[in-house]
Amino acid sequence: MNYFLSRSTQQSIWNLAGVYGLAFVLGLVTGWFWLVMALTSTAVAVWHYRKLWHVLCRLARRQRFRLPDGRGLWAELESQLHRRQNESRQRRARLLAMVRAYRRAFAALPDGIVILDRDLGITWFNESATRLLGLRYPRDLGARFTNLVRNPRVIDWLAGRQTDEPLLDVPMPSDERSRLSLRLVDYDNGEWLLVVRDVSKLMHLEQVRRDFVANVSHELRTPLTVIHGYLDMIEPEDLPQHAAMLLEMRRQSQRMAQLVEDLLTLSRLEARTDAGDDTVAIEPLLDSLRREGDALSQGRHRIRVTGGCGANLVGSAKDLHSAFSNLLGNAIRYTPDGGEIDLACARDAHGELRVSVRDTGQGIPRQHLPRITERFYRVSPSRSRENGGTGLGLAIVKHVLNLHQARLEIESEPGRGSTFTCVFPANRVRGDQPDRHRPTR
Ligand code: ADP
Repeated sequence: MNYFLSRSTQQSIWNLAGVYGLAFVLGLVTGWFWLVMALTSTAVAVWHYRKLWHVLCRLARRQRFRLPDGRGLWAELESQLHRRQNESRQRRARLLAMVRAYRRAFAALPDGIVILDRDLGITWFNESATRLLGLRYPRDLGARFTNLVRNPRVIDWLAGRQTDEPLLDVPMPSDERSRLSLRLVDYDNGEWLLVVRDVSKLMHLEQVRRDFVANVSHELRTPLTVIHGYLDMIEPEDLPQHAAMLLEMRRQSQRMAQLVEDLLTLSRLEARTDAGDDTVAIEPLLDSLRREGDALSQGRHRIRVTGGCGANLVGSAKDLHSAFSNLLGNAIRYTPDGGEIDLACARDAHGELRVSVRDTGQGIPRQHLPRITERFYRVSPSRSRENGGTGLGLAIVKHVLNLHQARLEIESEPGRGSTFTCVFPANRVRGDQPDRHRPTR
């Protein structure tokens, strides 16, 4: 028992003893001993009930307790309640100040913040979200986010609750020329934080870079064609003393022409947002790739279509052909003579379509795999150049697959070979066999 409590208890006992002592004397003096004692007990009980009632009333009405004047147990109870009330008042004020400070910080952020519940209903948003997404306070609180921001890409992206990849290049609802990036954070057991950022400047710089590469590539095309044409006109046999030099010049000009073509292909792919809606029959496409591969390999490899499927893909016939032929070209380039290359397609249990190119070539060490699809990333730069590689083949493949919402899986073991598998989502796969499609290069 603490010091104050024991002092209050003593005080109450002394008070009670005093009252009953007085009653005892009064009872003896008046000769009505029991009556005086009974009246005193009743008075004590009434006084205590009054005190209890008074405390309960204050609690029920949420009234503040004042510091009591007297001493004893009731006074101690009231002073304890007074202290607790003060403490909780201060705690509440501190919490409120903290919440206000957080809200002010969120409001001052240049990025839009929207808090969504598990059904994508809007719980709260800051001022930047009003500006960037056109939300209105308080009208839009509680509304479903996808009923207000109706961009189909945003709706698909939110439906998949994509927390690992931000959604880039979304037009701002109030101004189509401005671009937004959206990031979703799962922050509290089913509650979502949507962070919206204005990336117009960044996208503009990216566009300038793309235009620059496309323009330079385009400008280089004509002079290269001319140089190439003149070199083709000179026969090495006519100039035997310069034959080796001529052949090397032809080889290098071909390499440059291929580099320019690949850069233009990448620029074209980057400028697109949609894959297209050709229906591409995969098996005939693999057959035609095999024939092209045979011509390229000139009998140095055994190229087969090992697994077939009657599926068709919805997308761009030209780009799909370009992606698969890049994978096949790499397999031929990085597989020593006598090696085997298998082309296959199959549907997995989730309905996804897997198109793979497997080789028994040199393979890729594990540490290179995460960066292998970057532009100009090569495991062995000298070897790639010797083989006529531009360093852009897998970057093209990745772009084509991104356009088709597909992914690239790579399995490789140095010295044993590699398997590159393009995995297409089920919604791009059609089971029936349409008219045979003749791919164009
Ligand atoms: P490149 O034109 O140099 O082949 P890519 O982007 O097509 O450029 O490939 C990047 C690098 O990945 C290549 O330089 C090569 O080192 C490696 N690579 C790609 N495909 C294969 C393969 N089938 N086997 C072994 N290495 C490969």
